[in-house]
Amino acid sequence: MGMAINHVPQIREECEVFHMSDKQIREIMNRLHNDLVKGLGKDTHANSIVKCWITYIQDLPNGKERGKFLALDLGGTNFRVLIINLGENHFDMQSKIYAIPNHIMTGTGVALFDHIAECLANFMKEHDVYKERLALGFTFSFPLKQLGLTKGLLQRWTKGFSCSGVVGEDVVQGLKDAIARRGDLKLSVMGILNDATGTLMSCAHKEPHCRIGIIIGELTMISTLSDVQIDICAILNDTTGTLMSCAWKNHNCKIGLIVGTGSNACYVEKTENCDLFDGEPGKPELLINTEWGAFGDDGALDFVRTEFDREVDVKSINPGKQIQEKMISGMYMGELVRLALVKYTRMGLLFGGRGSDLLFQRGSFYTKYVSEIESDKPGDFTSCMEVLEELGLSHATEADMAGVRHVCECVSRRAAHLVSAGIATLLNKMNEPRVTVGIDGSVYRFHPHFHTLMCEKIAQLVRPGIQFDLMLSEDGSGRGAALVAAVACRQQLGHA
Ligand code: BGC
Ligand code: MG
Repeated sequence: MGMAINHVPQIREECEVFHMSDKQIREIMNRLHNDLVKGLGKDTHANSIVKCWITYIQDLPNGKERGKFLALDLGGTNFRVLIINLGENHFDMQSKIYAIPNHIMTGTGVALFDHIAECLANFMKEHDVYKERLALGFTFSFPLKQLGLTKGLLQRWTKGFSCSGVVGEDVVQGLKDAIARRGDLKLSVMGILNDATGTLMSCAHKEPHCRIGIIIGELTMISTLSDVQIDICAILNDTTGTLMSCAWKNHNCKIGLIVGTGSNACYVEKTENCDLFDGEPGKPELLINTEWGAFGDDGALDFVRTEFDREVDVKSINPGKQIQEKMISGMYMGELVRLALVKYTRMGLLFGGRGSDLLFQRGSFYTKYVSEIESDKPGDFTSCMEVLEELGLSHATEADMAGVRHVCECVSRRAAHLVSAGIATLLNKMNEPRVTVGIDGSVYRFHPHFHTLMCEKIAQLVRPGIQFDLMLSEDGSGRGAALVAAVACRQQLGHA
């Protein structure tokens, strides 16, 4: 190897584009605040970029929720079916991950829901749970215009999904229809099973709050059909599940955040601030799903976006959409790093100007690499070297590795600062003395410095006197779904 020239200073200079000054961050906060207010307002909602959807969840768990629940979790890294047992001070759960093949992610909605229904049926057979009556929570992590706890119209797909025929439709109905199409799962509306005609009438009367019952036929000898009923009690966003899951033990938890495949937050708003809420009056609080991943779709973030952000967006399945999400989340972070590395390689600042086929291939730099590379101790490049070897860049020098790590740090720090700007905006808006933020998602969970970066930045950005805690929320999409179902059933059925 010849004399390695150290180009790290030039790389640092190039990476300045990822740096956001405090002034810029405060401008971002102002813009986001205005967008949130627009999203909540009756006359401004339709044209608002940040939608602030109403969730119809008004009660946080009180820790007394008990029982066995089913949950479906669609829209993160994996699709899962879960069975959750909520007990006193503990919960246990069994779950299974099912692949969603690419042709289904981008196929028809019918095929997607058929696949989900099939996984649900298989799971129930394997876990021998079709003899009981179970409430089901459906964590569906995409923007929904909710019309009730069990009714939500899909607004847009995100995160690589693009199934046809679903946008504008009720996804609970989509699942219901898929279940009805199956021979082994029969669908019924709650009440029919009790063979009192009046029950059906009164249930139908209550739509959309009427629960859906699913009768599993042919799986077992059914003598009384009501033994085998599932009630879809709620459809919820993963941020909502995360908040609920954290609030189960921590009563200050009033924000739920996901920094994973996608980016989004929900929070507890005063019902009086929610012009569009048409549900039961009288309850002071309402969970709002901000869908802040769409922030910037009108250009509000252009003053801090880079050529790499524009490239990621243009090449994505949904150009012009989810601009904030594309600067932050796990689906895109690795690709942002890769594009910067490609540019600096072509400039001769990395790898002696010699990249590799893989480096030049879209999507080859996984977001988990960013976490791995930044997990090396200062001066150590063990993980960095492994990653570069995987990419066919074993000719990298130590200066190259320092340069690569610097790019990772700049991209992940910018993401952490953007998320912090969002959380600080919510904290300032809520203006409560102490709020816990329940957080989940692969980026927050696995990046070695994300938590610390967020703590530092949010502390700088919140109004004096506002305290906050950032808490990893254990499995919001699973346990959270069970809790939402539990709280929902409590409301709808008068269950304890
Ligand atoms: C979706 C949100 C979701 C977030 C995190 C975004 O792409 O629009 O509904 O909460 O990803 O999964
Ligand atoms: Mg999840």
